[in-house]
Amino acid sequence: MHGKAALITGAANGIGRALALQLASAGAAVTVADIDGAAAEKVAAEISSRGGRAIALPCDVSNSAQHLEAFRRHAQAWGRLDYALLNAGIGESGDLVWCKSPSAWQKTLDIDLRAVAEGVRLAARTMLTGSPEGRRSDSPGGERAAGAGTGPGGQHKPVIMITASAGGVFPMPVSPVYAASKAGCVQLTRSLAEPLARQGIRICALCPQFVDTALVRDIQKADAATAAELMRDTHSRLLSVDQVTQAGMALLTDPSKVGTCLVVLANGSWVEPQLARF
Ligand code: NAD
Repeated sequence: MHGKAALITGAANGIGRALALQLASAGAAVTVADIDGAAAEKVAAEISSRGGRAIALPCDVSNSAQHLEAFRRHAQAWGRLDYALLNAGIGESGDLVWCKSPSAWQKTLDIDLRAVAEGVRLAARTMLTGSPEGRRSDSPGGERAAGAGTGPGGQHKPVIMITASAGGVFPMPVSPVYAASKAGCVQLTRSLAEPLARQGIRICALCPQFVDTALVRDIQKADAATAAELMRDTHSRLLSVDQVTQAGMALLTDPSKVGTCLVVLANGSWVEPQLARF
């Protein structure tokens, strides 16, 4: 990944942080974007202390202006975008029928789905033109696509990887709006695979079962009954962040994975679900 550049949202913690460290140790220059700017700074400093190249950007992906600015500043810093990891996300749980605060669902849909669709648009424009606004004149490389078609033997294609969830493929009774958001991410990935491939961009989705991160630990602290239900669904096994990162790196580096939604099961194995097609 030397000479390549990656932007990762939600990169200050958990899966995003682990992927940022992996990409940096593989040689990529990394933009660590997160709503928690101070934590993002720490991850960038950690990468730098290991000899890698990174910048930190505070960015709430549900704020369109901040989201755009993150891609703009990434392009200014590194001049290209090869890997866009749309990873920022929040958990949601609760009774859809009797819940008294439907605004929580709005927030989940906004961060876990709407911002992801926006991220795909910003990433593809940056990859193709060097600018998230899609103005070729902004591109440090002029007319050349920022990442497309470069690399050894011209084989490298820029990759957009969405962190969806196994909950976007399997039913998830305790978190229906989260599951619906993640199913939306799976369908964005499947539906955009061909049109983006025609423009030289690969899109994939990483769909883990429950992972040992703050997202799950916060649910465990706040809502024991929901946590117990989640654990029952996965036979009380939480994936380690390293298991998920391994699957993510495989998606990022395997050119045959186009529109792939890779489910990482609780036992650490990977499957590509056979979803229906027209
Ligand atoms: P995490 O809480 O450890 O990390 C999420 C990161 O996203 C945090 O650094 C947080 O500050 C950031 N973030 C939250 N809202 C944001 C926003 N609006 N803008 C920018 N950054 C924001 O959780 P994680 O488990 O590493 O989650 C990463 C992704 O993986 C999420 O999309 C999540 O839905 C998905 N996922 C998690 C699990 C799991 O069990 N932990 C399973 C499947 C999928």
